[in-house]
Amino acid sequence: MKKLVVLGGGESGVGTAILGKQKGYDVFVSDKGSIKEKYKKVLLNNNIIFEENQHTESEIFKADLVMKSPGIPDKVKLIQDLISKNIKVVSEIEFAAKYTEATIVGITGSNGKTTTTMLTHHVLKRAGLNIGVGGNIGDSFAQQVAEQSYDEYVLELSSFQLDGIEEFHPHIAIITNITPDHLDRYEYVFENYIASKFRITKNQNKDDFLIYDADDEVLCDWIKKNTIKAKLIPFSVEKELEYGAFLQKGKIITRLNRQEDIMEVSKLKIQGKHNTKNAMAAIMASKLLKVRNQDIAESLEDFEGAEHRLEKVAKIHGVKYINDSKATNINATFYALECMETPTVWIVGGVDKGNDYTELMSLVREKVKSIVCLGLDNQKIKETFGNVVDIIVETAGAEEAVKVAQKIAQKGDTVLLSPACASFDLFESYEDRGDKFKEAVRSI
Ligand code: ADP
Repeated sequence: MKKLVVLGGGESGVGTAILGKQKGYDVFVSDKGSIKEKYKKVLLNNNIIFEENQHTESEIFKADLVMKSPGIPDKVKLIQDLISKNIKVVSEIEFAAKYTEATIVGITGSNGKTTTTMLTHHVLKRAGLNIGVGGNIGDSFAQQVAEQSYDEYVLELSSFQLDGIEEFHPHIAIITNITPDHLDRYEYVFENYIASKFRITKNQNKDDFLIYDADDEVLCDWIKKNTIKAKLIPFSVEKELEYGAFLQKGKIITRLNRQEDIMEVSKLKIQGKHNTKNAMAAIMASKLLKVRNQDIAESLEDFEGAEHRLEKVAKIHGVKYINDSKATNINATFYALECMETPTVWIVGGVDKGNDYTELMSLVREKVKSIVCLGLDNQKIKETFGNVVDIIVETAGAEEAVKVAQKIAQKGDTVLLSPACASFDLFESYEDRGDKFKEAVRSI
C-alpha cells in the first residue's frame, strides 16, 4: 500500500486525506499546529490516522507522496528535506485532479478570484450544468472529487496551490490580474510570483483557453515574452478588441466567431470597473461552455456579490456604509475608491504588506474627505495623506472606527471600510474584521 502523508489538517488537507483513503492509500495527516475539532471528527469518522502540534519525521519520511497544504511555505526545513529525499510534494489540486474527468475552469489572479469564481459558478449552475465550486471556496476540491460526481468544476486557485501542480490541466484558465502580493513567499521577486500565476496554463494545449485582462500590463508583457499554447481570450474595459470582450456604448460586447451584445454594464448588480472585468471573464468562460447569451445576462443581473467585497451594509441617516474588508492590498482598494460616488470617509489600515500608498493619491484627493485609521501602526498612512485630507483619526477597533466615522460623515456621504492591509494586528481574519464592522454599523 502506498503511503500518502498530508501536511496540514485544514480544509484541503482533510479533503485530500478522505480522497487518498478512498483511492487506497495508507494516509497519515500531520499538523504542526492544532487541528480544528470539526476536522478531527471527520478524520476519526474516516479512520484516518493523524497527529497535531508536531511533525513526526520518521513517519513523514516514509511517504511515497506528500500533499502540502498551501499555507506551508516551500522554504521550511521539512519540505526541503522531503525534496532532497526525492519524495514528491504536491498540492491538493494536483492530487485531486488525477481522480476526476470533469472539465475544469481554473481561476487565479491577485484580486478578483473569489468574485469571478462565484460569478462563473453562478452563471454555469443556473444554466443547468452539473457543476461544483471549490479551491479556496467552500468544501475542498479533493473532498468533492471523493464524494460528488460533477461534470465540471470552477476552482479558485491561489499561487500557492499552483506552485504544487505538475499535470493539473484546466480546460479554461482565467488570470484576473497580477499586482505585487505575497512577495514574502517569492523571495521578494515579482517575476517569481508572476511565473507562479502563469503555471495555471502550463499544461494547457491548443484546444484550451486562457482568459486574461488585456488592460493589465504585467499580464500582457508576460504573454508577449513567453509561449502559451492555449488559445488566448483577452478582455478589456479600455479598448475595443478584435477578439475577446470589451465595452461599447455602455454594453459588454464579445467577439469570438462574431460580434455579440451581451448586456448593459449598468444592469450588473456588482459595481465598479473591476467587477465589469470580473463579469467579462465569467462571460467568456460561460460562452466557451456554450451557455446562451440571454442566460448569461440574466444570471449576471441577479448576482449579488460576495460578502466582504464592496458589500453594502446599510444606509443610516443618509450615510451609506460599505464593507470591503477583503481589500487587503492597494490594488483592491484602488478599485473600491474608484467606484465611490459621494464624498467618502475611508477606514484604512492594518498589517501592510509593503504598500505604496501614493498610488492612491489622486483618488484620495478626489474622493476622500476624512481618513479613519484602523491599525496598530498607522504611521505611513498619516505621513502620506496627512496634508491631503482635513481629518485623520487613529482608532484601534471596529466599533471605535465606526463611531468616529459616523461622527464625521454627513448626509450623502459614504463610509468605506477598504483597509488595503491584512487584518491580523487587530482581528482574527478579514472576515472577522468585516463582521465586526457590520455589527458596529448595525448597532448605530
Ligand atoms: P481574491 O479572491 O483574489 O482575493 P476577491 O474577489 O475576494 O478576490 O476580492 C478581493 C478584493 O479585491 C475586494 O476588495 C474586491 O472588491 C477587489 N476586487 C475584486 N475584483 C477585482 C479586480 N478584478 N481587480 C482589482 N480588485 C478587485
